Amino acid sequence: MILKQFNELKEVLSKPQQIVIIGHKNPDGDAVGSTLGLKHYLDKKGHKAQVLMPNEYPDFLHWIPGSETVYRFDRQNNQCVKSLRKSTMAFLLDFNALHRVGQDMQNTLEKYEHDFALIDHHQQPDDFEYMYSDTSMSSTCQMVYNFIEMMGDVDMIDKNIATCLYTGIMTDTGSFRFRSTTSTTHRIIADLIDKGAENDKIHSNVNDSNTYSRLLLLGQALSNLEILPEYKTAFITLSEEEKHKYSHEKGDTEGVVNYALSLKGIVFGIIFIEDEEQGIIKISFRSKGKFSVNQFARKYFNGGGHDNAAGGRSELSMEGTIERFKSLLPNYKNELLTSYEN
Ligand code: 5GP
Ligand code: MN
Repeated sequence: MILKQFNELKEVLSKPQQIVIIGHKNPDGDAVGSTLGLKHYLDKKGHKAQVLMPNEYPDFLHWIPGSETVYRFDRQNNQCVKSLRKSTMAFLLDFNALHRVGQDMQNTLEKYEHDFALIDHHQQPDDFEYMYSDTSMSSTCQMVYNFIEMMGDVDMIDKNIATCLYTGIMTDTGSFRFRSTTSTTHRIIADLIDKGAENDKIHSNVNDSNTYSRLLLLGQALSNLEILPEYKTAFITLSEEEKHKYSHEKGDTEGVVNYALSLKGIVFGIIFIEDEEQGIIKISFRSKGKFSVNQFARKYFNGGGHDNAAGGRSELSMEGTIERFKSLLPNYKNELLTSYEN
């Protein structure tokens, strides 16, 4: 755990500030929940807080309280630049290094004249003026709860804040099932329900928003699934053509990788998704047990994340990427076979 200059930050926040709160590119439930949860809290404390996201996030996160106030850097560039210009400090939530916001926004943030405050649970964070980093945490939302508690303000958590934070803890823990879910996570979740988070509605808003075409896309993904039992590995591919055929929209492939890992005996699940616009294959890695997909993604696929959930990319074709991926597995055979015991 790193807690850097917290008392100084508390001092800064004792006077009204103009604050921007920034999430990572392709924001997920934890990014949206933590940024908006923190925004509601800071506004309530008398600051003016504005959430900025690099780009769009999926429809199933648009119901989150305050979502309509978010500025997107790729679409509302002027508003974003203006907010940054008049701000007195910036929070960075749910990411560990400026490049995670994408090239355009990174270029702008690198010229930022005020201090950054990081709250994040990813490994190996870059250094910023104020930091609260803890890789043992289930989610950045759980850390925002802790942050508010450290500020002595846990009583200020209202229904909106509770709803935002519940959402991110839920999505980042796979609905409270990953190893990062601790008894403390459950205690915080219990408190958030007491403070007004409607747990049944939140689950439904996030999970029951399938369109018919999304289910068909999932069907395609599942029929592309390939199992490599000798490595306890299973992977899924989706080509641009297949995405197009089922009118793919942002967020449609979210969670699909978990189907690979849901197979009995599989400890390493991967999805390779062709992204024509970026000219890459976007990869999600998931594992069970000791095998670190963070290290694997960092070493071979220009990515990273957590021990059991990481992302990366490949500039090769789909076929080339799969071939390269398969050629790496023999080096990890032993690690994979002993990664997880039931
Ligand atoms: P996902 O597979 O859902 O995109 O990402 C899984 C986890 O890995 C998330 O916590 C995400 O923040 C992280 N992650 C995804 N892509 C990258 C990447 O390119 N670099 C790094 N450092 N982390 C990533
Ligand atoms: Mn997160």
